[in-house]
Amino acid sequence: MPRLKGLRVVRSRIEGFGVVATRRFKRGAVIADVEGVLWRTPERRDDTWSLVLDDGVFFDMVDQTRWVNHSCDPNVVIEAGVTQRGHGWAQLQALRDIAPGEELTFDYAFDAAVAEPCRCGAAGCRGWIIAPGLTPPTDKPSSARGRRATTGRSTRGPSRSPLARASRASRG
Ligand SMILES: [Zn+2]
Repeated sequence: MPRLKGLRVVRSRIEGFGVVATRRFKRGAVIADVEGVLWRTPERRDDTWSLVLDDGVFFDMVDQTRWVNHSCDPNVVIEAGVTQRGHGWAQLQALRDIAPGEELTFDYAFDAAVAEPCRCGAAGCRGWIIAPGLTPPTDKPSSARGRRATTGRSTRGPSRSPLARASRASRG
């Protein structure tokens, strides 16, 4: 897998691995076209790095972008969907000007049953990586957790999740 230009995978201050910019990105710029694989239930795949495109439809991110962490105050938005020919796609875009060295983050969410505590450190942190309006779980996550982008036009779907899917948003 060739390295994506302008990005580097590092140990993150937020969680696990993360991705930092190695150059400047202007607001609105396309940061990366994500390499990924479309899959649908009942096919069973690792949904850890999968974006939820729709109920039962996932896009497994297979390049460095899978390491982009979540933040409740993100600097990146992910747009994703399925083309008319049935191919999955996803793209990272800069929500604001991004400087070299800045960690890239986007806002994704898990279903309530598999939500995780959030350590993004943003002033307006929701406390959990969970879709707005849902109640955090009382037990540890035990099932699939795809990531669902909470912003970005094509990733919206019914707010249930992948538990049937895992979602595609990234976890670090
Ligand atoms: Zn947060």
